[in-house]
Amino acid sequence: MTTLAPLGSGSDPDSFLRLGIPSKGRLSELATGLLNQAGLSFRRQNRGLFARVSGLPIDLIFLRTDDIPTLCAEGAIDMGITGSDLVEEAGANVEQRMAFGVGRCRLAFCVPDDEDYTDAAQLDGKRIATSFPHVTEQYLATKNAKAHLVSLSGSVEAMIRLGVADAIVDLVETGSTLAANRLRILEEIGHYETMLIQNGTHRRKEVADRLVSRLEGVVLARDYSLVEYNIPRSQLAEAEKITPGFNSPTINSLEDKDWCAIQVMVRRGEVVEVMERLKEIGASGIFEMTINNCRL
Ligand code: AMP
Repeated sequence: MTTLAPLGSGSDPDSFLRLGIPSKGRLSELATGLLNQAGLSFRRQNRGLFARVSGLPIDLIFLRTDDIPTLCAEGAIDMGITGSDLVEEAGANVEQRMAFGVGRCRLAFCVPDDEDYTDAAQLDGKRIATSFPHVTEQYLATKNAKAHLVSLSGSVEAMIRLGVADAIVDLVETGSTLAANRLRILEEIGHYETMLIQNGTHRRKEVADRLVSRLEGVVLARDYSLVEYNIPRSQLAEAEKITPGFNSPTINSLEDKDWCAIQVMVRRGEVVEVMERLKEIGASGIFEMTINNCRL
């Protein structure tokens, strides 16, 4: 078993893990929130580039979200929080260390509602506006098609109306931006989400593993609630079918020998239905509790 260095030890900046996080944009607040919940406290002064984490050998580097994959592949940062769409577009050679279960989206070819394209191959020779020129080009090549790519950093959805493009390749989350612009999905290229990435050389491995374990605790805690209830022993087998738990439920005896108390993790989105089903088989005193953090 390896022993971790005491927290906050080592003043050599080269021994610090460098973690790149988005300096602004939709992922910035999310990344900061996740790190705070994982017990990392830091203060970014005057929108500076660096912040030192107190009590852990980690330096945060605030970067553009789309630069994080390349900077991680090049070793300027050891780890980074970014979108897997940006990792693919950059063609960055990094390890995708963990998924956060947020920022899920699809990258898709989108065309005007009233045009009858049925396959992305029909876009051969057409103009396509996108912030993902490399992924788009590679995908079209698999269909022996080649388009004129209009490479942009934003507002891609407006480009057909502006007469710059015949189709777009853009990220779609709910689909409301497409609907507002009278566009529809022609073909999906891939599914993406927010990830923690790591440089392949695994420098500062101990700190990296400790960070991952902390973040995993936070992500699990966000996804699950703790449900507690009492159930007649005769119904225990039925109750375990409804709440099998993450590993298995904790079962405690009660003073009344015919009853027991259960503690079990349940996916947040399923809690209300699970409570109803437990009630139906005779459970009582059913409570949902928030998990702030956990290690399993
Ligand atoms: P929606 O209207 O919910 O389908 O979102 C589409 C708009 O949000 C497009 O302009 C996308 O570029 C942007 N978008 C959606 N999901 C993401 C994401 N995970 N990361 C970055 N931009 C996104």
